[in-house]
Amino acid sequence: MAGIDIEGLATVYPNGVRAVDGLDLHVADGEFFALLGPSGCGKTTLLRTIAGLEAASEGTVRIDSVDVTRVEPGKRGVAMVFQDYALFPHMNVSENITYPLKVRRVAAATRSEVASHTAGELSLQGLLERKPAQLSGGQQQRVALARAIASKGKVLLLDEPLSNLDARLRLEARTFLKKLQRDLGITTVFVTHDQAEALALADRIAVMDSGKLRQLGSPREVFARPTNTFVANFIGSTPMNLLPGKVAASSGVEGAPRPTDTTSSQNGSAASSAAVGLVSVAGGSLPAATFSTPVGAEVTVGIRPEYLTVASGDVTGPALRGIVVVAENLGTQSLVTVDCDGTLVGVTVPEETEPAPGTAVALTAPATRVLLYDHDSGELLA
Ligand code: ATP
Repeated sequence: MAGIDIEGLATVYPNGVRAVDGLDLHVADGEFFALLGPSGCGKTTLLRTIAGLEAASEGTVRIDSVDVTRVEPGKRGVAMVFQDYALFPHMNVSENITYPLKVRRVAAATRSEVASHTAGELSLQGLLERKPAQLSGGQQQRVALARAIASKGKVLLLDEPLSNLDARLRLEARTFLKKLQRDLGITTVFVTHDQAEALALADRIAVMDSGKLRQLGSPREVFARPTNTFVANFIGSTPMNLLPGKVAASSGVEGAPRPTDTTSSQNGSAASSAAVGLVSVAGGSLPAATFSTPVGAEVTVGIRPEYLTVASGDVTGPALRGIVVVAENLGTQSLVTVDCDGTLVGVTVPEETEPAPGTAVALTAPATRVLLYDHDSGELLA
């Protein structure tokens, strides 16, 4: 088992594209780590540079504390699973799984033992004699994983491992992969453009944009407290509301406890005892921690639909007032769009409490859930 240390890494293609552009990253021993970002952000290039399939132009890659930046792929101790699985069509499952061992001239009897043991771990018993064409997509994916695991690499690199599976199989394979990684404890880096997949699987997520790291954190951190509007926009199955606003009152109490601990309370009320400021937005105002942002400053106010509440009865404190435009069914929840003085605001509510279009509503939120971003840079304000 091994950690991965990346320092000042840049990968520049011959056409001048800096696909990875000065990255520092530490993946801990045994960690399940996601590289997440939109198409073209450089996540596959980063994975391939860790594997040695692309040459680093600047910086270093260390695996298990050994500098492997100039070491050829086969000698880095990595096992990679490609998006299309790259199985050999003329070999059966057993031969596919043990191919890396054959290359290393491991004896046939040992190979056969490894094949049946790994097939057991990946629920492929009974399929060892089949060719890839005789397997379902999910089974092919597990053979590719089995081959990577049987090669006994120190780290496992997965390039969009679930993207070739249909929606139902994908969920099944996701659960399978999470359990397998936990059981084996192997350091794993996987690439995905699917934020829900990264949130569900990873211990930590690196969100990338244009070859750079935009945020690094646990799924909970990147969901609840995106450090910039790029990540705020990218994470979450319902988009975060990003509303133009102005600081109306400062929290104003130097040294007051800062409501930064977003994990301590389900609804964010943990910091309600802290002094709270006010931010005005179309349709009214919301409470917010405004410790270092002066009154009058223009900001972008970030609030997730999940953290807004449609108030029942009269509201005396800060709230956004508006008219329900439309409600979309999300299963047990509904996403309700409210027109607040011309600005559309999304709020999720339990399906059975969905207000009808045309209803006048007031929306409230705890101060801990209202994030303020710099109007120009989009960076989170403290
Ligand atoms: P996707 O999710 O679409 O696979 P990605 O985030 O994995 O995207 P990369 O494939 O790493 O992104 O590509 C990053 C950038 O490098 C893109 O601008 C892409 O066009 C460019 N690029 C990728 N491969 C090459 C190559 N072989 N030669 C030149 N440019 C490349």
